[in-house]
Amino acid sequence: METLKHWINGEYYEGQPLDTFDIDNPATGQVDKKLLLASPADLDYAVEVAATAQKKWREVSLAKRVEIMFRMRQLLLDNQDTMARLIVEEHGKTYPDAIGEIQRGRETLDFACGINTALKGEMSYNISTGVDIHTMRQPVGVVAGICPFNFPAMVPMWMHPLAIATGNAFILKPATPTPSASLFTAELYKEAGLPDGIFNVVAGEKETVQAMLTHPGIDAISFVGSTPVAHIVQETGVKNGKRVQALGGANNHAIVMPDADLKFAAKHISAAAFGAAGERCMALPVVVAVGGVEDELADLVAEEARQIRVGSGMDQNTDMGPVISAAAKKRIVGLIDSAEKAGATVTLDGRDLIIEGFENGYFMGPTIVTNCPLDNELYTNEIFGPVLTIITAQTYEEAIELVNASPFGNGSAIFTNDGGMARRFTHEVEAGMVGVNVPIPTPVAYYSFGGWKNSLLGDRHIHGPEGVSFYTRGKAITSRWPSDSGAYGATMTFEREE
Ligand code: NAD
Repeated sequence: METLKHWINGEYYEGQPLDTFDIDNPATGQVDKKLLLASPADLDYAVEVAATAQKKWREVSLAKRVEIMFRMRQLLLDNQDTMARLIVEEHGKTYPDAIGEIQRGRETLDFACGINTALKGEMSYNISTGVDIHTMRQPVGVVAGICPFNFPAMVPMWMHPLAIATGNAFILKPATPTPSASLFTAELYKEAGLPDGIFNVVAGEKETVQAMLTHPGIDAISFVGSTPVAHIVQETGVKNGKRVQALGGANNHAIVMPDADLKFAAKHISAAAFGAAGERCMALPVVVAVGGVEDELADLVAEEARQIRVGSGMDQNTDMGPVISAAAKKRIVGLIDSAEKAGATVTLDGRDLIIEGFENGYFMGPTIVTNCPLDNELYTNEIFGPVLTIITAQTYEEAIELVNASPFGNGSAIFTNDGGMARRFTHEVEAGMVGVNVPIPTPVAYYSFGGWKNSLLGDRHIHGPEGVSFYTRGKAITSRWPSDSGAYGATMTFEREE
């Protein structure tokens, strides 16, 4: 059995592990690897190494930093097959999905390749006689990134390319079930010429996260995960003087208006609800069908969903892999059971799916639920599985009220052919990322990504321009050069003559 170590100071590091974590393959249920979990002393070592390396790295020219980012981008492209296989093995998603997440993550590297432009400051000449002002942004120091299991490559890439390109050192704590993409990233950075100690991977569970949140040597924390943990991270991190951005969970709703092209909507809703087994923070678990279209829409979505082939992520005929763990499957099935008991109708049922040859895998089929009481936990919780709940509203006003009553506000979408209706929705909806006939409106990486309400704690979204701002501190410099040359000197001469 393979043992996965940390990556500190440009090499694998064993340290004094507190414990180990068994990593299983969700398609087979078999434990294939063990992951070492860091002790506080291991984290101390990583922080010390990162802080020392960062003092030199922040002085490295922008030209050199950009060169390393370009090399890293190419290495990621050349090695995406290896990385995708590691993701499928540990996460279970399909191979094309894994390639897709690497490509979306690489967008942040593309943006980081232009960090010289993104870091430009401002300058005003002669704000007072002989006095100028200019601004610059400088790195915060040592940044920690704490990541969820569902995008083992993309979510860390929302963080480290910008943190590093802006002159920081980075310590990544991957989710324990899916750490290999992070370790592989470390090897690629080394090959790209990044100095040792600037990118480190420290694995652990909540003890390690607590140690990061209180560690005096860590200056900023980027967190992506569930809302309860986001609250812990935000509160503890801020109490300990750190800059924190904490992206939380979601329960994204789409409104389907009666004038929408229902066939088009159904195709995209099916992909958004069941793609990656619903384990996306931008997945679409709830649809609000407006003005009586619910039955036709449910039938059309079911028609699409029945075509989804569930199986091992490495099988090229598979459209949807397993969920992450036996516990996750039990939780999702339990929520569907509870809704059914409360009177909901399960119009497409994926609870009992068994895949031949993979009987111990954590598979579920696409599931559609209608008539779900709105106080039932299937609707109020984040499902994070391949389940679509269709609720109803008579009017747009009723629908938007339902959407905005959600305590989450990550993404939301409307399906309509009425431009005025769409414009009103984009203005009124309380969510950070909004789609018009686009069910998963994840912004490209040169824009920033982030939700509202319980989907993001902190005031800065991740990657794009807000990412640059998060990983840097502003400085405004006011300067005067009292001498006889130039504008100030001329004024002095004039004053002397008087
Ligand atoms: P999680 O919150 O369980 O874990 C996230 C990270 O926090 C992991 O590294 C984990 O080790 C650590 N952690 C877990 N419990 C902790 C605790 N009690 N104290 C301190 N640290 C702890 O999330 P997950 O199950 O890995 O990922 C799924 C969740 O992430 C979903 O809620 C999903 O919506 C969310 N997510 C959000 C976004 C977004 O952009 N908003 C993106 C991806 C995933």
